[in-house]
This record gives sequence, C-alpha cells and structure tokens, in this order.
Amino acid sequence: MPTNAAQVDELRWKKIPVLDDGFVCLVDVMGDDQAVVQAARVSYGEGTKKVSDDRGLIRYLMRHRHTTPLEMVEIKFLCRVPMDTWRQWIRHRTANVNEYSTRYSLAIDAAQRTAPNEWRTQATTNRQGSGDPLPADLGAELSASEAELLEKSRALYEKRIELGVAREQARKDLPLSTYTEAYWKIDLHNLLHFLALRMDAHAQLEVREYATALGEQIVRPLFPLVWEAFVDYRRESMFLSRLDIGVISRLTALLAEQGRTAATDDDFMAVQDPTWVGMARNRERDECREKLVTFGMLK
Ligand SMILES: Cc1cc2nc3c(=O)[nH]c(=O)nc-3n(C[C@H](O)[C@H](O)[C@H](O)COP(=O)(O)OP(=O)(O)OC[C@H]3O[C@@H](n4cnc5c(N)ncnc54)[C@H](O)[C@@H]3O)c2cc1C
Repeated sequence: MPTNAAQVDELRWKKIPVLDDGFVCLVDVMGDDQAVVQAARVSYGEGTKKVSDDRGLIRYLMRHRHTTPLEMVEIKFLCRVPMDTWRQWIRHRTANVNEYSTRYSLAIDAAQRTAPNEWRTQATTNRQGSGDPLPADLGAELSASEAELLEKSRALYEKRIELGVAREQARKDLPLSTYTEAYWKIDLHNLLHFLALRMDAHAQLEVREYATALGEQIVRPLFPLVWEAFVDYRRESMFLSRLDIGVISRLTALLAEQGRTAATDDDFMAVQDPTWVGMARNRERDECREKLVTFGMLK
C-alpha cells in the first residue's frame, strides 16, 4: 500500500479552482516518496533503511541532481486552463498530453475574464513582466470592453456553426482567453522542473496560479519528503555563479580588513566583477546585488 494512499483518495477528481473558471485535479498517481527511495537504493544499495534515512537520501538526490529516481513516479492531472496560459504550459515537452478537440466538439463556452481590479501595467524593469495594478475606473472600463468582445466572438462562432461552417474553421476567431481542457501526465522529476520555472516570480501570474495549485495542493501532500527537499534545494535556494563567489570573497575580505559588518553599495561597486566595470547597467551585476541583499550583506 503506498504511503500516500489516503491523500490520493482524498484528492482524486477533486477540482481545485484556479482563475475564474479553471481548475486542476489529480486523476492518477504511480508512486510515493518510497518509490523514489526504492529506485535510488538500486544504485546506492540496501545500507540505510530507516525513515530518517529515507529523508536524507531524498535530500541527497535533490542536492546532487541525481534525478532519475524521481522519474519513477508518474502523475496524471486533468486541467481546465485558458488557451494563452496553456500555450506557456505546453512548452514543457516532457509531459504526455491529450487535449479537448475543438475539431470534434464545440469549443468550451467559457473564457477567462479579468476583474476590474486585476488589470496590470507593463513592468518597467522587466520587458516580459507586469507592474502595478491599473486604477479601478480604468479597470472597470477594460473589463466591460472585454465582456463585449467575448460575447461578440462567441456569437460569431455560434453563428458560423449554425450556418454549417466546419468546427475546425469556425473556431479561428475565438479569443486566447477561451478555456481548454487536457489530461497532462508527467513524471515527478519533470513536474518539479515545471513547478520551479512556473511557480517562480518571473513566470506570468496566471500560469503561476496553476503551478502553485499543482505544487502546493497536490504534490506537497502526496510527496512530503520530496516536496521539502524541492523547497530547500530548488524553490527557495539560490544559485551562485563563479562571478558571484568572487564578489562575495572580495567583499568579505574588504569588510574584515576595515572591521565592518555591513557593506554599502559603493563597497559592492568597488569589488564588482571586472567584466562589469564601466557598464551603466548590467543585469548580472543587478542580480548579484539582489543576492547580497538577501544574505543581509548589503543594505
Ligand atoms: C519566465 C519564462 C519566460 C519564458 N520566455 C519565453 C520566450 O520569450 N519565448 C519562448 O519561446 N519561450 C519562453 N519560455 C519557455 C522556455 O524557453 C522553455 O521552453 C519552457 O520553460 C520549457 O522548459 P524546458 O524546455 O526546460 O522544459 P521541458 O520541455 O519539460 O524539458 C525539460 C528538459 O528536458 C530536456 N529537453 C526536452 N526536450 C529537449 C530537446 N528537444 N532537446 C534537448 N533537450 C531537451 C531539457 O534539458 C529540458 O530542460 C519562457 C519560460 C519561462 C519560465
């Protein structure tokens, strides 16, 4: 009996709502934390068998990116997601997918609608991202024009069907906000890769909401040891480049030499990587600075 049998029973077919009309739900699982441990022991031998050792082994695998034991676990989901979000999701090629066909069936009569307080400005620092919320009165106007467009495009679609246009052609002007549904099956290693990228603050809010629902509400309870290791070594960990390490070493030496504990931005600029010197803007330097602020080394 898998160690997560009770959680699987509780979660199977339970629709977890996402956005205004979407959901994710667990359909099937093959494996639990133990399945990862069992696969790893083929390579590491029987040596350690206690529960506390299972946790240590999983953490070791995650730390050292020994990922094949995680591929022994398979999970199948059903999701309902707007097509623009699905377009980002489907870029993850390591899953098996079967999607609702709008050639065989009428397109799902639902589109993701944006509430007046949910419209976001274009980010100024990141060309791909969003910034602050737009003012409420403008938001209300945008939501009203969105509703008008959705109604018009659906009416046109249905009119084409009534007139005998093939479903595969009638659908061409439906908006990207139209919901689609798909079965999505993936192994645990590639699912964690998806979650690391799509739960991240750099991912678009909408796909982030789906990834967070999958991760926090399904993966976390089903694989508590794997999830803990994933959070510690991937999701909330930090990557240090050779350049970052050089900056940290020089900054630590500078502070020690001057008997100080906190560095200023002038100190940081003084010990920056030589390849960044003279550049008014440098993304790598900005990211290094952010890491030092997170450490508390830089104010
Ligand atoms: C914040 C963000 C912004 C993005 N912006 C853009 C963008 O502007 N434009 C754009 O086109 N995409 C963009 N993407 C998509 C991104 O480039 C990847 O296509 C997507 O994240 C899938 O990642 P993946 O290939 O690692 O995942 P998967 O397809 O699940 O693959 C997992 C891993 O398997 C291996 N793999 C799979 N297939 C192959 C293959 N054919 N050859 C070699 N190795 C393979 C790779 O190691 C890969 O990392 C963005 C993604 C994110 C998260």
